[in-house]
Amino acid sequence: MPVVEPFAAKSPYELVVGDDGRVDVRREGRHVAEARLAPRPAWYDRVTPSGRPMHRIATMQGTVLAVYAGSVCEFWVRSEHRPARENCRFCSVGLNLGADDDPAKTEEEILATVHAARREHPLAYVDFNCGHADDGGHLDRLLPVVARVKRETGLLVGVQTPPHPDRARWAALRTAGVNRVSFCFELFDPERFREVCPGKHRVHGQRAYLDAVETCLALGREGPRGEPWVVNGEMVAGLEPPAATIAGIDWLVARGAVPTVCVFRPLVGTDLAHVAPPRPEVVRPVFATLYERCVAAGLPVGAAHDVRPSLVLLAEECRDLVDDPEVRRRLRPAERRLALRRGVLRAALAARRVASAALRAPRGPRVPGSPTAP
Ligand code: SF4
Repeated sequence: MPVVEPFAAKSPYELVVGDDGRVDVRREGRHVAEARLAPRPAWYDRVTPSGRPMHRIATMQGTVLAVYAGSVCEFWVRSEHRPARENCRFCSVGLNLGADDDPAKTEEEILATVHAARREHPLAYVDFNCGHADDGGHLDRLLPVVARVKRETGLLVGVQTPPHPDRARWAALRTAGVNRVSFCFELFDPERFREVCPGKHRVHGQRAYLDAVETCLALGREGPRGEPWVVNGEMVAGLEPPAATIAGIDWLVARGAVPTVCVFRPLVGTDLAHVAPPRPEVVRPVFATLYERCVAAGLPVGAAHDVRPSLVLLAEECRDLVDDPEVRRRLRPAERRLALRRGVLRAALAARRVASAALRAPRGPRVPGSPTAP
């Protein structure tokens, strides 16, 4: 929950939950917005053919089905070669994995869960996320499962992984129909990157993340016809000067990559739990710039309908943070072009969802005692 950390108590906002589940967001006692908790998907309580509850295989985030693939990020694991943890200091993955989510998932379990979720929701896409693996085999392990999800469902598929020096590995993902690759270099200031992400710095170096962005952008012309291809660079605002994060946004946009930025939150149990979150007025210009740069560059932000990740502010959600009237006026023609393009893309994606829903999903073997068994 986003309200358990001590800093949340200092928020000027108050959440009041009504009997009907509606959440009234108030400021100084006055209503400012209404929210509703996402309903728990029914498939969460079903089990895979191997007997594992599906809520331990994947998570719904709006219309995105998120799968943490592979075992725990090995930056969290001490070993002969890693006497001390090297996890990113803000990260909570090593604290949570195993509590909500199973670290080892088979291809069959993932496929069964994707099909179950797809039968219940109009999924926008399936997003695979994996942390660091010391053997560098993350892409080799992902490729078969993402290719199979693509083949069996036709859904949009994304992967968020560490960089890999072999261009052929990325080309194979593109050929398999993957639609989005995402690289989390977190901080654009090289010194802060080194301090906050010691494992990423030692094993890859910030340059490897930027190189991976450029390598994958160049693959845009090589993929299957009609399959969109987006390259993301992900950053955290609030752990470096705003000018550094804005420089990172500019670096990505200049190359045609889409920046995604979240706000640093000092989560309970993490190495930076004692650090204050950034003040809104400090990070607001970062998000206003994110919107301005993406729209001015004609990047396809907001193309996939109803994508609502819980941690990241998407560029298209930041429009109201642009308060300079001159910037708003200047962006209007680009916004009109983007709205047209977005309409075309959404129509194409909606047609794809309808076609995908028409595909008969394999149901897998029946498991006695399982809610999926008749
Ligand atoms: S690479 Fe860093 S941010 Fe990603 S899971 Fe590992 S420790 Fe966390």
